[in-house]
Order: sequence, then structure tokens, then C-alpha cells
Amino acid sequence: MPTFIIDCPHCKAKVAANEKGRAEQFYSDPDCGEPNGYRLYVGSCPSCSSLLAGESTQIGFENYDSDEDVWSDIVRVHPKPARTFRSQRIPRIVTESLAEADRSLQANANIAAVVMFGRALEAVCRDILDPSPTEDPFAPPAPPAPPVTKPEKPKKKIMLAEGIRKLKEKNIIDDRLYDWSQQLHAFRNLAAHPDEISIPREDAEDLQTFVYAIIEYIYDLTERYNEFKSRSEKRAKRKKA
Ligand SMILES: [Zn+2]
Repeated sequence: MPTFIIDCPHCKAKVAANEKGRAEQFYSDPDCGEPNGYRLYVGSCPSCSSLLAGESTQIGFENYDSDEDVWSDIVRVHPKPARTFRSQRIPRIVTESLAEADRSLQANANIAAVVMFGRALEAVCRDILDPSPTEDPFAPPAPPAPPVTKPEKPKKKIMLAEGIRKLKEKNIIDDRLYDWSQQLHAFRNLAAHPDEISIPREDAEDLQTFVYAIIEYIYDLTERYNEFKSRSEKRAKRKKA
């Protein structure tokens, strides 16, 4: 039986899944004629029998840019595919860092994953605490700038430690999320320096859950609550009228 290499979340390891089916699609870019290939695999784990599905894209094309056809490593899409968020306001750099972290986790590259969690959280800090109107088309109009009394120094970008502290000070995160952020920061620092360390996958997966929870709280839940509140207020106004 053919097999394909995929990460089994139950075994927490790369396994040679028994391939039960495959779908492929090939097309050329209508503008530049560049070829594209996309594959979906379904199968089962040889060790725990979990059903697994993964996707792969073609990265080399025979007779075009490569001696032979080359496909990317398979990224699992079921079970437990990468999380998605409801809010459209989450900066792309955040979602890209999270996607990269997820790919790293699936490859058991836990240190790389943790670095990416830190990058995502730092990008959240910058977006929330120091939003740049050009980067955020959804931001409400900025209040009028206060009169400038002295020439402004070039602005320093917010780093993770300071960002987390400010999110807490401004009550954007509560005590528990603050603790989780501190853990993320500590692990990120460990991961970012070339010391002899190892981060167990279990820990990396917990940190992944925390970073998703923080982002969900700051963007999705806040946005949802605001929408909920404005609906209630509108109803209350209509009643009064
Ligand atoms: Zn398995």
C-alpha cells in the first residue's frame, strides 16, 4: 500500500500513513503561465489508526524549473487543522507567524515554533499599542494629535516584554493572560538564544494554545462583545422611542 509522511497528533510523531486516497489539481497562472500543483491525501496512521488528511503543493516542475517534479512536505489539515480567527483586524504578520509555528510543530521543530509564537505576540503588542494607520485600514480615525512641544525622537518599536506589560497596564489583558504571556516571553527568550536547550512538544503545544487564547481574547472576543453591546443599545433605544 502506498504511504505518505504526515504528523500524527495522537502519536505526536511523523508517521508513514497508509494512503487510502489522493486528489490532485494542476493549473497554470493565467497571467504568467507559471504552473501550479496541489494535492490532498487521506489515510490512516499505521500505529494508532487515526484518520489523517494532509495537503502538499508542488514546488518543482519537470521541464520547467526542475529536473523532476518536487512536492512540499505534507501539512496536516485534519484532524486539528490550523486555527482560524473571526476578526478581520488581526495583522497578517500575526497569522503568518502562527501558520509558520504550526508547520514547525508538525515537523517537531519546537524551538522554531516557540520563536514564532513570540513573534506573533510581539506583533499583536505593536498592533494594539502602537497602531500605524497606514497598516490598519480598519482602525477608527485617530484622535487629533496633541500640540507638539518638543521635537519628537524617532519612535522605538515596542518589544515583547514592554508590550506585555503595557497590555496589562491598559487592561487589554487580565492577570491570567498576563501570566501566560510571561511564560511565552520566557520560552521565546530561551528559544531565541543559541544555548543548548530542548523544548518538549507538549510544552510547545500548550504555549500554542495560550497564544491562540490571548489573540482570540484581544481581537475576536472583544470585537464580538462590542457588536453584542451595540445591538443591545440599539434595541434599548428603539424601545424608548
Ligand atoms: Zn498515530
